[in-house]
Amino acid sequence: MNTGHGHVRPRADGVKARCGGPGICDECSMELAQTDGQTSNPEVAIGLLMNKCDFLESRIATIFEAIKHGDEKHQAWLKQKIEEHFK
Ligand SMILES: [Zn+2]
Repeated sequence: MNTGHGHVRPRADGVKARCGGPGICDECSMELAQTDGQTSNPEVAIGLLMNKCDFLESRIATIFEAIKHGDEKHQAWLKQKIEEHFK
């Protein structure tokens, strides 16, 4: 089926649009959302994994900031996250 941009769902003709793929291109991002994170396309699987790594890195950085600075904003955030975790 020769539809889509070929990044998320491979096209029969092997064509990939030069659109930047999921995260950059709206159509590819929409295709990716429709896969619900399930894909046999290695390019997309790695992309999803990298997004998760970025997300985890930013969360870890926020936790370290909260511990390091201990200002009210970060303390409140950390306290809330800890309480949510142990619910
Ligand atoms: Zn695209």
